[in-house]
Order: sequence, then C-alpha cells, then structure tokens
Amino acid sequence: MIFILVLSAASCSADDAPADATNNPNPGGDTPSPPGNEPDKGNETDTEPGNAAGNGEAGDKEPEEVEPPQKQPPTPVFGFIDAHADTISQALLPHNNANLYRNELHVDFLRLKEYGAPVQVFALWCSDAYVDTAFDHTNRMLDFFESEAAKHSDIIEIALTLEDLERNARNNKISAILSIEGGEALMGDVENVDHFYNRGVRIMSLTWNRENELGYGQATGSKEGIKPFGAEVLARMEELGMILDVSHINEAGFWDAHRLSTRPYMASHSNTYAITPHDRNLTNDQIRAMVDSGGIIGLVLYPQLLTQRDNANMNDIVAHISHFINLGAGANLGLGGDLDGFGTMPQGFTCVSSYGFLAEKITESFGEEASLSIMSGNFYDFFVRYYRGI
Ligand SMILES: [Zn+2]
Repeated sequence: MIFILVLSAASCSADDAPADATNNPNPGGDTPSPPGNEPDKGNETDTEPGNAAGNGEAGDKEPEEVEPPQKQPPTPVFGFIDAHADTISQALLPHNNANLYRNELHVDFLRLKEYGAPVQVFALWCSDAYVDTAFDHTNRMLDFFESEAAKHSDIIEIALTLEDLERNARNNKISAILSIEGGEALMGDVENVDHFYNRGVRIMSLTWNRENELGYGQATGSKEGIKPFGAEVLARMEELGMILDVSHINEAGFWDAHRLSTRPYMASHSNTYAITPHDRNLTNDQIRAMVDSGGIIGLVLYPQLLTQRDNANMNDIVAHISHFINLGAGANLGLGGDLDGFGTMPQGFTCVSSYGFLAEKITESFGEEASLSIMSGNFYDFFVRYYRGI
C-alpha cells in the first residue's frame, strides 16, 4: 500500500498537475522515478484504488474505463518525513543564536526546501538549565518557531492535522510538526497538555533521559514504570490526539505506555538494541509490540545508537534497517534522524541535505519501494492510522 501511495501520487502530478515542479525532486534529488517506469503498480493495487470505491456502485462497473478513479484528492508526495530534529534548541543556544531559515546547523528551511515538500518534526527540548522553568522555556521555543515560520510562510507551515500535511504537500510546502521531548514542560499540571496542544504541539514523549513527574528516562536506570501523572497525561493526550513518543523512556515505562495506549504510537528516534545494545534502542520484543499496535519507529543517526565502534557509516544504518525488516517491521520504519541533537555525524552525512544519499543507499540495498516507504510512505501511513483509524 505504501509504495502505491507514493507512486500513484507521482503519476498523479505528472498527469494532471500543470507544473511538474510540484513533482518535487524526491529524496535523492536526482529523479529516482522516471515517468514511464512504475512497474510495480499492479502488485498491490487492489489495496488502494479499488477498495474505497465500494460505496454503492459495486457490481455495475465492469472492466474498461481504466481512468484513475478520482475518488479522493491526489495522494501527497512528501520529500521525506523525519520525526525528530533538535534544531530549535540548538538555534537558541547563545553561541549559535541562529535563525531557522538559513544557518550553520544540520537543518534549516532552505535546505529542507531542496526536498520540495518534506515533513520535519521539530522538537522542543529543555536542557538541565531549563528544567525548573520548563513550561516558560517551552513556550519561548514555541514563540521562536512560530515567528520564524511566519516570516517564511511561503515555504513552510506548521501542520496541525493530517489534512494540513496533505495540503502542504500538494502546495509543495514544507510541513513542520511540533513535538515536546520530555514532559517536564507540563510542570506537573495535566491542563498544560491542553495548553501545548492548543499551541500546536502534536507529539510528546513522556520523558527525556532524566526522571520527571511522569516517569523515568532510560538514563536513570530505573526499573519503575510510568507514574500516575504520566498515565493521566497519556490519557489526555489520546483524547486530544497528541501522539505518544516512547523514545527515551525506560523499558518499564515503555511497557506501561504500551499497555495503556489505545492508539498507535511512535518511537521517534530509536534503532535496534540487537544490533547496537544501547538503552536508547528498542529490543526485539519492543519492536514486535510496536508492529502489533501499528506504531512507527524513526531511524536515528546518532552514531552511538548505530554502532559500538567510534565511527558510524551508511552500512550501520543498513544493518539496522535489515534487522527491522527481519522482525517484520519494514512497514513501521521511517526517519528520526535526531539532526542537531548530536555532533559528529555518521560518515557520508553532513546535514539534512544528506538524506538524498541515504535514500540512494536504501534503494541500493533494499530497492526503490522500500526506500520510498522508509523515507516517507510508512510515516504517512502511520499518520493515517492514527488520525483516521485505518
Ligand atoms: Zn532525543
């Protein structure tokens, strides 16, 4: 299904959109899908175009008329979808004092725009210095992002809904999704979930590395599960439609969150523990549980989560992808690079502009369909599952 979405979208814009500028350069930047070359369309098509047409006009449509069904707006083409970047907190560090349009960090709007209509999740994270004032600081970060996005509203919009994502893609705009990394921002008040939801935040992790009012981050080494306030917050998030992110929580907290969740959830930036045994990575059991509940996992580029050697490279990423696929998580895998969340990049990466090379590497190793799925299709399907329940 995933691949069909992307491929049929590409053909849509070729057929009926006036400018093929909307058919943006795709992850690689160098046109991986030539117009006439979409051979795999037949394989799974019955999962896509056919089924939803079952609204009334069942039997009377026989063969012929192979025209596109046109029952829904064209499926969007996303340059990529990435579930985690720390660019906001990096930009605000006094020694960086950067804007978000053009900077020396890993991500800025200009480089995102190279991908046409990507989706970038921007995290709001409080360093130790701001834990005591986390609510105010998170609001300041939101103010900053809003004002940066407003200055460049011709190329970027904050997406609040699935429809926003789809519209931005059709308009060839960047979608920004806001997430909170660590529930410290709530300062112990469940009403602040509503506050941040109303300010546009759509994803939140209960903890970062440390302990907070909600639970225990993985770095605490705690075997305790999430706290009552964490459960209360999770319930409110689900009511509102704020996606749970389980990256960084300790394992006992993960399993509590898994049990309590009634909607699919994400691990925005985590790899496989089996390949790289680090407590930020997911065990096979955790990955299988996420597959069972329709979740999504973002591959993270932080070298320590890719390898135990000093330097990570593209092959390490391929090894993690292979393991995910072997566990049956190939359709639950996307990007969560953690760009601007660490210093030295894996070899071959410099910044978000390197995602094109990653797409090429994934294509080389797993084929173009898998590449499209990992670069954007799987994440889009996750949002559809989460917001439309399908
Ligand atoms: Zn993180």
